[in-house]
Amino acid sequence: MNYLTKKELSWFKTLSEKNAISGQENEVAAFLKRHFEAKNLPMITDALGSIFAVKKSKNPDALKVMIMGHMDEIGFIVSKIEDNGMLRLLPIGGINPLTLTSQRMRVKTTQKTYVIGAIDATPPHLLGAGSPPIPRVEDVYLDVGLSAKKAVLEAGIQLGAMVTFDAPFQTLAGGQRILGKAFDNRYSLVMGLSILDALENKDLPYDLYVGASVQEEVGLRGAQTMTHRIQPDFAIVLDCSPARDSSGKPDELGQLGQGVLLRYLDRSMVARPTLLAYQEKMAKRARVPYQYFDSPGGTDAGAVHKSNAGVMTLTHCIVARSIHSPSTILDTYDFFASKKTLLTMLKDFSLARFEQLQREDR
Ligand SMILES: [Zn+2]
Repeated sequence: MNYLTKKELSWFKTLSEKNAISGQENEVAAFLKRHFEAKNLPMITDALGSIFAVKKSKNPDALKVMIMGHMDEIGFIVSKIEDNGMLRLLPIGGINPLTLTSQRMRVKTTQKTYVIGAIDATPPHLLGAGSPPIPRVEDVYLDVGLSAKKAVLEAGIQLGAMVTFDAPFQTLAGGQRILGKAFDNRYSLVMGLSILDALENKDLPYDLYVGASVQEEVGLRGAQTMTHRIQPDFAIVLDCSPARDSSGKPDELGQLGQGVLLRYLDRSMVARPTLLAYQEKMAKRARVPYQYFDSPGGTDAGAVHKSNAGVMTLTHCIVARSIHSPSTILDTYDFFASKKTLLTMLKDFSLARFEQLQREDR
């Protein structure tokens, strides 16, 4: 059984197959802009390319609530073209080089089209004695089928060209889990659009900003500029974190299908216990599961909560297996549980709730 609406499933497929490494997010930004326009919502942007829709309340002095995802995905850029037409790469964001060998890749040309290629692999009989060394991203060769540097340049491939995994979206057996690339963090974009749909005819007692930053994967850069632009009072950061449950051990943190994460600690932020308790209460009220989680990674919340004079910030994440790879697996029930909790929170939130959270926090 699939826990997504038809619209959400189609957004997941479309957005997963779009290409948007950090700094080259235009395709995803255009998609968001089109959808925000179709909802007749005003938009707010920063000079780096982050984009948010604004749903204003009737109160002119309303609090500002910001729901932030990120548009960018990990990937590569072309850093060298060898005389024999092979491309060399640099990583954009965190890449495990073991995910590279023999992968099909897409390279964006200056005509904004894509050329398919594959990362060079060594067959076992040429490996020699001992374990093969783990390559660095900088060591691999990407072969796009052209046999000379001149032909590569004529095909519109330049240094700095975007390279992403060529990874089609699929629904897996049973229908509940989906496979594809960049669910970190297209999860947040599908969630943002879905939330705006759900709240379309509801008057909220606060101004709601829903959208996505750019350049999260290279250091939370868009989050910094966009938070400065919006100046939120309360921020909710959406992201997709690594599951650690493949071994089947129930005590590993980050279990697929077990609901939204109460993320008490990561590299970028220490969560406020008051806000975690609020999130837990909302998940209970929504009657969906939730799980405690910590991570050596980080999210945009790392930049958001330190902005201005500090922003009350909560993360609202789910896990997926094999993130930062071409073959990420996400459970649609986690999306559903996360959405129900978030909507419950957004319907509960008000100036009185904000002031109560502030009091309890001191
Ligand atoms: Zn992310």
